Order: sequence, then structure tokens, then C-alpha cells
Amino acid sequence: MQLIDLSLPLKNGAIEPEEPRIRYLNHKRGAFLLGLAALIVKGSIMASIKNLFLYLLGRFRIMPSDFPEGMGLAWEKVIASTHTGTHMDAPYHFGPISGGKPARTIDNIPLEWCFGNGVILDMRHKKQGEVISLTDVQNELKRIDYHIQPLDIVLIMTGADKHWDKKDYLDCHPGMSSEATLWLIDQGVRVMGTDAYGFDQPFKNMIRDYLKTNDKNHLWPAHLAGRVKEYAHIEKMANLDAIPKPYGFKIACFPVKIEGASAGWTRAVAMVE
Ligand SMILES: [Zn+2]
Repeated sequence: MQLIDLSLPLKNGAIEPEEPRIRYLNHKRGAFLLGLAALIVKGSIMASIKNLFLYLLGRFRIMPSDFPEGMGLAWEKVIASTHTGTHMDAPYHFGPISGGKPARTIDNIPLEWCFGNGVILDMRHKKQGEVISLTDVQNELKRIDYHIQPLDIVLIMTGADKHWDKKDYLDCHPGMSSEATLWLIDQGVRVMGTDAYGFDQPFKNMIRDYLKTNDKNHLWPAHLAGRVKEYAHIEKMANLDAIPKPYGFKIACFPVKIEGASAGWTRAVAMVE
């Protein structure tokens, strides 16, 4: 079995509206901080104070030299939006109600949604800012000769991942229409994905069309379809073109379980026999 990584890394300097910040604590720093942490005795302030005295006297110290090669443990602190890097948007991202019920947050996404048969719809012929219509989706299904099954994980391949880390990444992609999204949900799909920055058209196209027409339907139509009918989508996937066939493979895409959150970072992987 071949495993194909469909995820982008979370990294400092990534092109995002809110740049993620990862603070790296290396092994040397880890050794120092673990030494300090050892002073603290849980539940006993007196014992901790006693340790502090011993520490000041030089009799209670875990020094870096106490660790093999002077190296402690490394760790990181991350300040980043849940929508940074490859992530799954839960129905709660789209609105408080989804399909007439309180919308699920990311920690309540059924695991059954996140592991299943994958289908790739090649939309690389669609240009920047174009809409992926229901006809586009149905024509592509006809071309690959496939009928959508319930709980299929449907991935929209736009090729926008090739612009990742370039200036135009945020707005180089086409976007899904409400009709196409709702139709896929009607076929039993609960998780969709895109290799673009967003599932909808780029922000600048939606705003321009809205200001031109005053039609609210131009604002996040695919996201807001999730208020009408329940689904989740993964944004900022990558490498969909590395999967050698449009269906007949599995996708695993479990989001990080963040309590009450609208999204979770997701390691999406294709499994090809
Ligand atoms: Zn998102």
C-alpha cells in the first residue's frame, strides 16, 4: 500500500491572513526548563519552597549536564488560527445551525466521516475566480465514469497547491458553488476537500461580485450551503495529483480534537493499494 501525504506543514512565515507563530524550545533550553520544573511539587507549596531553598544553595539542581549529552527534551509553543495550514472546517464554522440542528463543532465530527473512499474531481481547467458549477461536477463524474456513494470523501483538485508559499496563493483558485456543494451532500457526501486556500472563490472575487450586484449569494456560497445541509470540508490540501487514479483509494483525514472549535488541523493521507 502506498501512503500519500495530502497535507501542508504548519510553519512560521506561511502565507496566511494571520501568520502562525511557532516558538521552538530546543533540547538545551528544555534541559534548563525541566530542571526548574523539577522544583515544583504538585499540591505542596511548602515542599516547592524547600526545593527552591535547596536550589539556591546549589543542592537541588537538575543541570543540563544531568541529561545525556546535556540535552533535555524539546517542545514548541504554537499560536495559530485553527484555520491555518491543512485543516477541516466543521459545520459550526458555517453558522450556529446546520441542517436545522445545532451545528457540530470539530470535536463532534463523526469519525466515520473522516475515513472512507476518496474521489478526485479534476477542476484544474477552471481559472482564477471561476465558479465550479454543478454541471462541472457532473461532467467530471461522467468523464471518470463514477457514481458518488454515501460517505465518499470528495476532493476538488484545482492545482492551487502549486502556488503555496507564493504571493498569489490566497486568491489564485476557483471556488465551489452552492448548488454543486448541496448536490454532493444530497448524494451522501459529508466531507469534501480542496487543494486551494479556500473552498469558496477567493475573497477578492466574492467581494467584487457582491459590490457589483448587491446579491448576498456571492458571499461564501459553498460555506453557507453548510447551514442548509450538514457537511464539513478540508482546505489547503496538497499533492492530489500524486494520487494515481480518480477513485479506488482511501482517505484518512482526522482533525485535531479542539473542544468547541470551528476547525481543526488535519493530517490528510491517501491510501492507494
Ligand atoms: Zn477554514
